[in-house]
Amino acid sequence: MPFTDLGLSEDVLRAVADAGYTEPTPIQDQAIPVVLMGRDVLGLAQTGTGKTASFTLPMIDILAAGRARARMPRSLILEPTRELATQVAENFETYGKYNKLSKALLIGGEAIADQQQVLDRGVDVLIATPGRLLDLFERGNILLTDVKILVIDESDRMLDMGFIPDIERIVKLLPKIRQTLFFSATFPPEIRRLADDFLINPKEIRVAPPATTAETVDDFLAVVSGDPKEKRAALRALLASEPVRNALIFCNRKRDVDILARSLKRYDFNVAGLHGDMVQAVRTETLDAFRDGQISLLVCSDVAARGLDISDLSHVFNFDVPANAEDYVHRVGRTGRAGRRGRAFTLAGPEDGKFVAAISRLIGRKIDRIDVPGFDAGELESDGGRRRRGRQRPKGRESRGKIRDTERQGGRRRRASEKPEPAKAETGAQTAKPGSKDKKSKRDKPRRTSDKHAAFGDAVPNFLTRPLGAKGN
Ligand code: AMP
Repeated sequence: MPFTDLGLSEDVLRAVADAGYTEPTPIQDQAIPVVLMGRDVLGLAQTGTGKTASFTLPMIDILAAGRARARMPRSLILEPTRELATQVAENFETYGKYNKLSKALLIGGEAIADQQQVLDRGVDVLIATPGRLLDLFERGNILLTDVKILVIDESDRMLDMGFIPDIERIVKLLPKIRQTLFFSATFPPEIRRLADDFLINPKEIRVAPPATTAETVDDFLAVVSGDPKEKRAALRALLASEPVRNALIFCNRKRDVDILARSLKRYDFNVAGLHGDMVQAVRTETLDAFRDGQISLLVCSDVAARGLDISDLSHVFNFDVPANAEDYVHRVGRTGRAGRRGRAFTLAGPEDGKFVAAISRLIGRKIDRIDVPGFDAGELESDGGRRRRGRQRPKGRESRGKIRDTERQGGRRRRASEKPEPAKAETGAQTAKPGSKDKKSKRDKPRRTSDKHAAFGDAVPNFLTRPLGAKGN
């Protein structure tokens, strides 16, 4: 169905045309007429499907009639992260440019006084993360009794982040008669229960989850040592052999985000880290710098990067195999967007076999294997859980990727800025020889060192001594 048949107003259609969209995405096609009718929606969809516009476009038209009263928002959109909330606010800006709707963005880390002032003026759309909303509610700055439309976005991510009790509290503060739009990428039992509680006779819309990665993404898997130092060296080798314009590099744990970002910086990569524990001002600044191209590599956690809409990423790297197979699709889906081609690389330790197998089951194919020369650690362990790192296959396997090809063409393109010196301290790609890693088994305890070139100076982080294969946060 073309956009013009969905029941949207001329103003909204004009803004959509200005945004360059010619056809609605499947979720927009199905959700927009239903939302305009005032019905509840249970949307099983994730970012990248056009989900945000599927609720913002009809909301703009619904809210165009009527006026907001001071401190009494007319609609409420709950988002799990500040970045997602900010993106939704930007969507209202883009699609609502011919309508005069007022909105407020209530996210942690921003000055509360400014947010109070906006609320006092009255807002049509309130976009909030749960914690900050409750905070302002408790201070008496908001009354939620006038909310006619509630959107709970990324519910499964809210669950992961422990926000469900907050959401339940918030929903109790809203009128019972309202329209509720509830979105989730997955539908575990807790989410099903919430949907049953919050929705009345909803229209269920399920858009084919991108259980497969986009055709525009070429993704590869390299099995390297699970030892963090060697993995970092393997990552540097990969980065240097690929024409990376800008990339997200995913870690499973927040603390590893910091460690990896620091390590890459030490090697003069143009890099920053992004995770949920960072001060909001720094997060915003970092993201802006990444979007503007001032930073080319962003090391991040899943939560921080969820839904980030950066349309022209050239690469995604998984420094860790995601423990949740769906996160693989999310991560890889950050590249190859808007018709451009993208490349994604996953570094797996031999013990990550079961996670890689889960991903293969979900996407319905095996990820193409490549060798990172000098770092290949052989096959994945099928049980995935046993601590048998260091068991390495003999060399000699046929090259299956560009990395090996690049090497054959006369070695990888080392960045002019890459320092050979620290490579000694960190098993640099340049110095890696086939078999050299055998000497660097996991049993090599990290040494405390005062060598200023060593990756961590005197402070050897805890994770280097944690039980191998442990999966955290
Ligand atoms: P979302 O799933 O809401 O995060 O949207 C993913 C991306 O798709 C965003 O960059 C949107 O700007 C873009 N988008 C949304 N709707 C359309 C459409 N109908 N046609 C083309 N791009 C769209």
